[in-house]
Amino acid sequence: MSDDTVLYDSPTEFLHEVAEKTGHCVAQSVIPRDDGTYVCACSCERWEVIAPSRTEGLRLAREHTGSLP
Ligand SMILES: [Zn+2]
Repeated sequence: MSDDTVLYDSPTEFLHEVAEKTGHCVAQSVIPRDDGTYVCACSCERWEVIAPSRTEGLRLAREHTGSLP
């Protein structure tokens, strides 16, 4: 059977997994603002900064998650 079936077979486990990720750095966003700067936020909800450019925002996001080389 497909992976979809596995997913539907264990909805409780799936929801538990999502809940576990709340508060963790699993996704970062860099959103342009009206004034030309970018607001960077993280799924952990403990990090939000303003960056002067999208590139800088992405760099800060990587720095936040500790994935810089
Ligand atoms: Zn984070």
